[in-house]
Amino acid sequence: MAKTIAIVNQKGGVGKTTTCVNLAAALKKLEQRILVCDFDPQANTTSGLGVDKTIAPNVYDVLLNGSETAKAIVSTPYADVIPSNKALTGAIVEMIGLDHREYRLKEALSLVRSDYDYILIDCPPSLELLTLNALCAADTVLVPVQCEYYALEGLSDLLSTIRIVKRSLNPSIALEGVVLTMYDGRTNLSIQVAEEVKRHFPGQVYATVIPRNVRLSEAPSYGKPVSAYDPLSRGSEAYAALAAEVLEHNQYAVTRLERSE
Ligand code: ADP
Ligand code: MG
Repeated sequence: MAKTIAIVNQKGGVGKTTTCVNLAAALKKLEQRILVCDFDPQANTTSGLGVDKTIAPNVYDVLLNGSETAKAIVSTPYADVIPSNKALTGAIVEMIGLDHREYRLKEALSLVRSDYDYILIDCPPSLELLTLNALCAADTVLVPVQCEYYALEGLSDLLSTIRIVKRSLNPSIALEGVVLTMYDGRTNLSIQVAEEVKRHFPGQVYATVIPRNVRLSEAPSYGKPVSAYDPLSRGSEAYAALAAEVLEHNQYAVTRLERSE
């Protein structure tokens, strides 16, 4: 049964989509069965995996037009993907009057969960109903934090949203981890931000840090993850290391659980 990880930060441009695409491809290289659910109307994860943004059925059709989840899944060499589309913007308003509106995505993904090891959800840059749906569907939350000024700004809002969701809608949700992105070891700023984030999230920041790497920003225009575009780049190596770390944490968690039974 898949573990579902939502990639969340209400700030735009912090590396959510880059992390989603490249972590998915790197996990697949480690023999994991991966489904990516693009849940941002901008659909950059969809195009970043080489899938046409206008394809149907897409995640909007699954949420609101009664399309079967399995029929919306597109296989790519890098991961399976449920594509998004700008129609998803309208879903926020259209869902308002519906029963169980926070659980629409959870219900949709539950139908295909047994086919995968991990489902990664790429979230839009906000904390409204779409992200709430992702938080209800998720077992854990992975937070990319850009090594920039104001990196920590907004993280307390994000954490309090997760706490509210835990209290009211999804009691078992937990933090998967925090990943530092666009790190530049030559600047004091990156080093300082990294230290500050680690102080705020003791034990929850991945040892793997994603460097600022131009290959990561070029790969999406070829519809490929960086591992296919430039496998020897620093960006590719970093996401491979992050995938290994994510797996290691989860295997450790499983072993710990088994021991406590
Ligand atoms: P988000 O999904 O949080 O809005 P993106 O993943 O789309 O953020 O990243 C924002 C921009 O920064 C994109 O143009 C992306 O290509 C670029 N980018 C992301 N991570 C890196 C990185 N590690 N090095 C260089 N460019 C990056
Ligand atoms: Mg994005």
